[in-house]
Amino acid sequence: MRVGFIGLGHMGGPMCRNLLAAGHDLIVHDIREDAGASLVAAGARWADSARQAAAGREIAITSLPGPRQVEEVLLGQDGLLDGLEAGAIWADMSTSVPAVADLVRQRAEPRGVGVIDAPVSGMTVGAIAGTLQIFVGGTEADYLAARPALEAIGDPDRIRHVGPHGAGYTVKLMLNLLWFAHLCATAEVLSIGVAAGVDLAMLRDSLLASPAASHFLAADVLSVLKHGDYDEGFALALACKDLGLAVDLARATGVPAEVSALVEQIYRRARAQYGDLGGEMLPVKLLEDLTGRPLRLS
Ligand code: NAD
Repeated sequence: MRVGFIGLGHMGGPMCRNLLAAGHDLIVHDIREDAGASLVAAGARWADSARQAAAGREIAITSLPGPRQVEEVLLGQDGLLDGLEAGAIWADMSTSVPAVADLVRQRAEPRGVGVIDAPVSGMTVGAIAGTLQIFVGGTEADYLAARPALEAIGDPDRIRHVGPHGAGYTVKLMLNLLWFAHLCATAEVLSIGVAAGVDLAMLRDSLLASPAASHFLAADVLSVLKHGDYDEGFALALACKDLGLAVDLARATGVPAEVSALVEQIYRRARAQYGDLGGEMLPVKLLEDLTGRPLRLS
């Protein structure tokens, strides 16, 4: 497909490499021109604006930090929306909310431009491997039209049409909310058990063989327990953005969200302590620092 791609960060960069590897014709743009250098060397073309990156493209993909940047890129000066031509699709792979996409759709649909939300899960490692999970919200026709490009980025068996416009954003926000809650709960449980004198490996193995087992405890926590790696591939600033959006959604839907609000506060504390660019698993370190006991498997 003829693809335009805006947002060449931790996720967008590797996604673009996979689009090129699958033979798609690619034009890229970012506010940081240096972010495109290696992609241009690999065969992509550079666009000086989002509008230019969209012109003549069958699909324009965004992978941006959040709603503010999505609005800037779509509706700002020389924006993406102005470049999209009839028959094209805009796929937003950012973790975001429908508000901006709804504004875009009001102007895009009368011009014959399709809009889907298609946020992803699978961390930078999945973006590099091209095995991301993708949650698509929008019409069936736009979902099917976008699939050839999405298949270069994600695992074809885990690219799902999850519902109408906005459903992809919601599924992704709920996934992150649950994952961050797992992280906070697991960090507390392991810290308490170890402080009470149980060997960390024994505690973890026992929990894994119990009804309290989780994927987080089986797999994701190991980067901390084995390597002291708190995953700088996903920044605390973005994690706080996601949790803020999830709690906003709880408020908007009228659902009480005590646990979610607490998880958000823990993440905000970690961000204040370790900075915007710190890794998403640093709430574990908050407890390690407080108890003086790093959680490490020997
Ligand atoms: P990132 O900060 O590494 O990359 C964002 C990119 O957008 C940067 O290159 C930045 O320069 C660019 N950008 C910002 N404003 C721009 C503008 N106005 N015009 C053009 N370019 C602009 O973020 P990331 O980690 O790649 O995440 C991207 C999205 O994917 C976020 O919504 C994030 O929540 C989501 N996500 C990230 C991960 C992860 O593990 N990193 C996993 C799943 C989903």
